[in-house]
This record gives sequence, structure tokens and C-alpha cells, in this order.
Amino acid sequence: MAAHDPVEQKYVYDFAEGNKDLKDLLGGKGANLAEMTNLGLPVPPGFTITTEACKAYLTTGREPDGLAAQIEAHLESLEREMGRRLGDPDDPLLVSVRSGAKFSMPGMMETVLNVGLNDRSVVGLSNQAGGNDRFAWDSYRRLIQMFGKTVCEVPGEEFEHALDEIKRAKGTHNDLDLDADDLRGLVDAYKQIFAKHTGREFPQEPREQLDLAIRAVFDSWNAERAILYRRQERIPADLGTAVNVVTMVFGNLGPDSGTGVAFTRDPGSGAQGIYGDYLANAQGEDVVAGIRNTVPLQELEQLDKTSYDELLGIMARLEEHYKDLCDIEFTIERGKLWMLQTRVGKRTAAAAFVIAGQLVDEGLIDLDEALHRVNGAQLAQLMFPRFQLDHEFEPVAKGIGASPGAASGKVVFTSARAVELAAEGESVILVRRETNPDDLNGMIAAKGILTSRGGKTSHAAVVARGMGKTCVSGADELEVNVPAKKFTVGDHVVNEGDVVSIDGTTGKVYLGEVPVMPSEVVQYFEGELDPENTDDALVRSVHRIMTHADAARRLRVRTNADTGADAARARRFGAEGIGLCRTEHMFLGDRRELVERLILASGEREREDALAALLPLQRADFIEIFREMDGLPVTVRLIDPPLHEFLPPLEQLAVNVAVAQERGEDVAKEEALLAAVRRMHEENPMLGLRGVRLGLVIPGLFAMQVRAIAEAAVAVVRDGGKACPEIMVPLVGAVQELETVRAEAERIIAEVVGDSGVEVLIGTMIEVPRAALTAGQIAEAAEFFSFGTNDLTQMGWGFSRDDVEGAFFWRYLELGIFGISPFESIDTDGVGRLVRIAAEEGRAARPGLKLGVCGEHGGDPDSVHFFHEVGLDYVSCSPFRVPVARLEAGRASITTTGSDSR
Ligand code: PEP
Ligand code: MG
Repeated sequence: MAAHDPVEQKYVYDFAEGNKDLKDLLGGKGANLAEMTNLGLPVPPGFTITTEACKAYLTTGREPDGLAAQIEAHLESLEREMGRRLGDPDDPLLVSVRSGAKFSMPGMMETVLNVGLNDRSVVGLSNQAGGNDRFAWDSYRRLIQMFGKTVCEVPGEEFEHALDEIKRAKGTHNDLDLDADDLRGLVDAYKQIFAKHTGREFPQEPREQLDLAIRAVFDSWNAERAILYRRQERIPADLGTAVNVVTMVFGNLGPDSGTGVAFTRDPGSGAQGIYGDYLANAQGEDVVAGIRNTVPLQELEQLDKTSYDELLGIMARLEEHYKDLCDIEFTIERGKLWMLQTRVGKRTAAAAFVIAGQLVDEGLIDLDEALHRVNGAQLAQLMFPRFQLDHEFEPVAKGIGASPGAASGKVVFTSARAVELAAEGESVILVRRETNPDDLNGMIAAKGILTSRGGKTSHAAVVARGMGKTCVSGADELEVNVPAKKFTVGDHVVNEGDVVSIDGTTGKVYLGEVPVMPSEVVQYFEGELDPENTDDALVRSVHRIMTHADAARRLRVRTNADTGADAARARRFGAEGIGLCRTEHMFLGDRRELVERLILASGEREREDALAALLPLQRADFIEIFREMDGLPVTVRLIDPPLHEFLPPLEQLAVNVAVAQERGEDVAKEEALLAAVRRMHEENPMLGLRGVRLGLVIPGLFAMQVRAIAEAAVAVVRDGGKACPEIMVPLVGAVQELETVRAEAERIIAEVVGDSGVEVLIGTMIEVPRAALTAGQIAEAAEFFSFGTNDLTQMGWGFSRDDVEGAFFWRYLELGIFGISPFESIDTDGVGRLVRIAAEEGRAARPGLKLGVCGEHGGDPDSVHFFHEVGLDYVSCSPFRVPVARLEAGRASITTTGSDSR
């Protein structure tokens, strides 16, 4: 401990006092400099001012009591250690003042180098550098420039202009052509600029320079760009930054000096080997500014073998110590190597998997830790085809990345045209203002879907994600004109047949064809690549980590699928059942007309005819799915469409009738239809006659479905197969609704299954807040609950799921009301609380109650952790998200058994 009053809070830590686990207090940079110091690596001596000091300063607007004295004490001991004093005219100590928050925020906050230089110590610096005046004056002008800009808000361009001016006078473009006299002149010019803008002389007192620089770093925590970056990266706003005061070392003292950055493995591919860049006779900011071209680090071996060997030794040591890929910054000052920074390095998704696998092979980490080091978002990224982008391609619009992937194809504006062109072997992109259930065939036929309206839970987005199809929604710069078969964006007009490319991850839209590469990870999940027999390191590592996740996880993973093909794919991806088969998707196309007849039926006879026609079709649907799932549980949800999806559009119908009347045609039938559609019209269809309400209002509808399910199961079993149906009732808000449906369903099931041995469970969705709050009662009539978190979010927040994301979420995100759409990742405090209450009260009323989730959140990494923690039995998600959910369920299990948090 430093020598100060023991009751006073400690705000300053010598590097020797910290370690890598103190990131909260010392920031990432400070904690790792301390760690390297304690490992005995060559770190320039220095100290760190804590994030606590920063927080105190930011709340009160002044440095906390005791900070100044603690800085003084540490500065004195640094001066003693170095044998130099700050500002000494003969042999000055210079320091850098660097920001360093807990989470890296590259380039967002401030740094000031060469603190301690003034009109007198510049001479001393020249002496230290063996009479190198040029170097000393160059260092001084850099201090005035950085200090002026970052501490005193002097416009940076003024310094740039002065530098350009002097180079022009000298007839050069190269800074290195300026000699000591030129730089001395530049210092004078800089001082004048400084005085003009600040109304004072450049401070000559080194301690004042230091204090002002520290304060500027504190303040930079709340700079606009830092605030924006934090919002973007979901970094809490109240962490504050630490400040590192580090002895300056110089890479610009001649050809035997230099600076570089390096990675202990390739952060792009994960391949083993040293990756880095080196720049001789330069300081770090020259590398960043790109003033001269760097050379590959390997060339340092020729320039300075001793330093190179030492550096390689240190990098190996750091990897072994951190047990991970490290990135480092270093400087060589006249043949002496100094480590300026290290941290566990950022990497691509592919590199994350490859490196985790390598580290297991090298015995540095175990499989639990490997699983902890990767995540579902990375896996998801690896599962989509990607564009091979280079600078030739400029996006023309940006919408919402609604379903990831990359797709190119000819633009079509109708579902029918999409089907037609696809049948001719063309790749097509279906472009609509928004999609509706009638577009389903076109969506299936298209390579990708692009809409100008709608958010991440719009129809287009949900259906596309379900199919694993690329979709960009809400690209509102597009003026889509379906009748004219064209869209305009900016100055461009895109006609049917023109080629566009869409990136469902970034939401970007490109004109023309951008080349696409398939995902080898999907090829592996599809069984097309044998993980035991491939030289693809990524596939081998994904296989190994997935196998471990499956062994570790407690949550089961099911899929949302309504067709045999989706069910089959989901099984290949590892699904252990179907958690949601949405039957309304089975009533589209040709069957739509039957449903319309059913809903609008004027008499019992008409209704019964429609139901009788639907029964065999439904039975065949279920037989296909049960066969595909071969005895795995299949949750079939009884029909739940908002009514308007099945009725002809009111306005269109009214116009048709009026036009026909005008022409004097016989419109009695159409008029009756119009009257019926008017009668059933709803202002808020999502809150209207749907789900269980429809089942209770239209006699025979649910009964037909229950019969079809039971008959299909019996047919499969009698055929020697296995079937495990679970019937799920949607939109229940009161136990009485469920009891009514249940009584009828039980009667039909008993009649159909007879002695076939088929067992059918009956349960409910929990997707209306009232159901969650009365879960104890509802559990009496349900053998399982499946949380419909899409509707639970819609009704919990009162957000229309079709509208709000595109309409105003941007503002909510900007204001930080939430960091991510609650439709994407579960709002644990509110909607999550409803889930928790229902799970607890449901299980209390019926121990052994099976609990799952089938809303979109079932495949969202963060939400999966929440569902694990709440104690659900399974999550269910679209086929493409099944591997992501398996991985995250595995990670959730290991994180709760002691490993470091995510
Ligand atoms: C839900 O509401 O979460 C759900 C799964 O049902 P749907 O999305 O079909 O309304
Ligand atoms: Mg729902």
C-alpha cells in the first residue's frame, strides 16, 4: 500500500500493486500492465488512477479529496525509480497519460503523450537522446498538439495547417524532412495557436500539464462519441475510465527503435503463428495515422534479432499465462524492448471456435472453458452464407437485418412471379412493401425477401427466419410500386428482372450481383461434411464443442416447424422434438378458400362441409410430421390466425361490389360476402377473435383439428411407427377457456385412440399476461405450458408486434430505454417476470408440469440463459437456430456450475 492515511480511499495503484482481475478498478489496460509487471516483463514503470476516482470526479465535478496527494506520492516514487524528475531541465522524466476503461473502447477516449516537456526540459530531452535536437523538438510539438486538442479543445486542423504550411515552405510532403530548426519554428507556431484559442500560454509547469491531462481523460468518458459507442456496445454508462500514467519510451529515436502491434495467433482464422506489423523509427500514433507503411513483424528478425527473439518469448509466455489469444503493443527504444499493452484479443467468429479447439489440444484449457469461450451469436454468424465483399460494392439502402444471410437474385414483386421464375431455375429476390400469408409460396421460392416496411417481428421477418431465408425488412428508402413492377431508391430505378443483393445480417441492399459463399458449418450440420474426416479446423472444432454442449446442457431443444421438410432439417440440426407446429400455416394456398367458407358459413351444413373437407388434409399434414419426428414429442397448436389474415380485404371487396353494381351486374353473392366481412371486421385483429376464442366461437373447428391429430397419430402407430402428440391451445387467458376445449378434446381423443396405445397430452400456451398471473389455476387443466413470448411481449408492453419496431424503436434504443428490442431478447425484468411467476405457480399447482418456450426468444442466446435459469424444460426455435440454442443451453449449464460469467 502507498504511504497515505489508511482510512482514505486508495485512488492510485502502482503497476506492481495490481493484477489482471482488477479490471473494474484499474480498467483493462491498467490491470494488464500490472499483470505484465508482476510477470517480470519489461513494462515501462507507472501507475494507474482508478475508475473510482473518475466516477467521483464525474459526479462532483472535482477531483476527490486525497487524489492529488496520492498522485504526488506515486510520481515521486516513479521519479526515484527512474532517477529522473518530471520537467527537469537536464534529464527530464516524460510520461504518457492514457485512458483505459473496463471494456475496450478503441479510440473513443483521450491520450496525451510526452507530458513533462517545456521550453527548458526540451533541451534536456535532446541531451538524453545523444544531442538529437530534431527528436526533442518533434516530441515537444507533438505534446502541444495533443494537449491543445484533447485537453483545451483547440481545433486540430489548425495544427495540421501549420504543419502543412511548414512542409510546403520546405518543398516536401514528408515529416521526416523537417529538421530541428523547422520543428522549433513549428513549436512557436503551435504555441501561438494554443494562446489564440485558450487565451493563455501553453502551461510550462509539468505537474499542471499532468493534472489537466488526467482531468481531460476523465472528461472524455462522457464525450459524445464515447456515449454513442457505449450505447451501441451495451457498455454501462456508469463504469468510468481509469487513467494510466506511464513512463514514456520512444520508438522514434532512430533505426534501432520502432513500434509494433502483434497477435499471438491469427485473429482472422485462428491459425497458429505470429501475426503483426512493425514500423521502424516511429511512435504508436504514426502506425495508427498510416503515415508510413508497416512491415510484417517477421522482418524484425533481420532488423533486431535480439528484440525479436525476446518478443516471441514474451508472446508465448503471455499465451500460456492468459490461456488465450493475446494482442500486444510494444516499442523498441534503441534496441531495448518495452511492452506497452496486452489484452485477450478480439477475434472473428471462426477464429473463436478454432482457437478454443486448439487450446484444448494444447492442454491449456478444458472443454468447459472452450464452450465458455464461444457463443451462439458467433455460431449463428458462421451458419449463414456470406458475401465476398470488396470495395466495388456500395450499398444503396439499409433496412433491418431481419433474417441473416446473403442472397442475390432477380427482383420480382409478386409471389406468383417468384414461383414462376424459380421454376425456371432463376434466383429471385421477392420485393414487397410488406408480406402477408398469401406471399408464402413466393417466399419459399425466393432466395431472399426485401420489404420496405416492418420490423424484426413483421410477417416477412418471422417467416423468413423460420425458413432460414435471408430477409431485409423495413428498408424505407425503397419506394416499392408493385403494379408498375419497379422500385426506386435514391436516383436508381430497379425493374422486375434486375439483379439485387441483400445482406440479412447488416440489412444492406446492393444493386447487381455480389458473389456468395456457402457456410461449411451448415454443410456439417446437414451431414454433408464429416467432422472426423475433414481438414477444416473450424468444422472439427464446432463439432467438438457442440458435442460437449449437448452433454452439458439441461435444457432440451425443440423446433418450431409446420412442414415435414422443416421438421427433417431441424432434426438434422439436433432438434429433440417440435415445440410449436403452427397449424394456421397449413390453411393457406388452396385451403384458404375452405377456411373462408368456414368462417363466413351461414349455416351448420355449410360449416360442416368445409370442416369435412379440411379433416383429411390436416390428417395428412400431421402424419407427415409425426413420421418425420419418429416418436419425438410434437406440440401441435390449434389454429390461431388473426381473423383478417383469412378474409378478403374489406376495401378491395367494397370497391369490387361498387364497380359491379355500377355496371348493373348481379352482385347478390358478393354483397352477402361484403356484409359478412364487415360484420367480422376488427379494429385490432391481434386482440380480437383469434386463438381459443375462435375455437369457442366456431363450432367444430378445434374438434376437427383434434380429430385429425389423434387419427394421424393412430395411423402412424398402426403402421409400425411412433407418434407422441401434444395438443396446445393458444391465447388462453382464463382456465375456463381451456377447460371447455379440453372437455371436448378428451372426448374425441378417447373415441379415436381406442386401444392403439397412443397418448395425447393437452396443454396451453402462456402468452396472455392474465394467463401468466393465474397460472396456478390454469395448470389444473394443462399438462404442459409453452410460453408464447411474442404475444406475451406484445401484450406485456402493449407494443403492436407488427408495427413498433419499424416505427419508433430507434428512439427507444437511442434513449437507452432498452438496449435491444424486447421482441428479440427477453425483457427479463418485465415479461421475464411473468414467465417466472407462471413457471413457479404452475409447478406449485402441478408438480411435474412440463414447461417450454416457443416464442422467438427460444433461439436468442441471452434469453436461453434466462430460460435455463427459470427452470424451463425446453426451448423451441426455428430450425436454423436449433444449434445456437443447443450451444447456449450448454453454456448456461456450465456458467451456473462455477465457471466465470459470460
Ligand atoms: C408467441 O406468441 O410467442 C407464439 C409463439 O405464437 P405466435 O408467434 O404464433 O403468435
Ligand atoms: Mg402467439
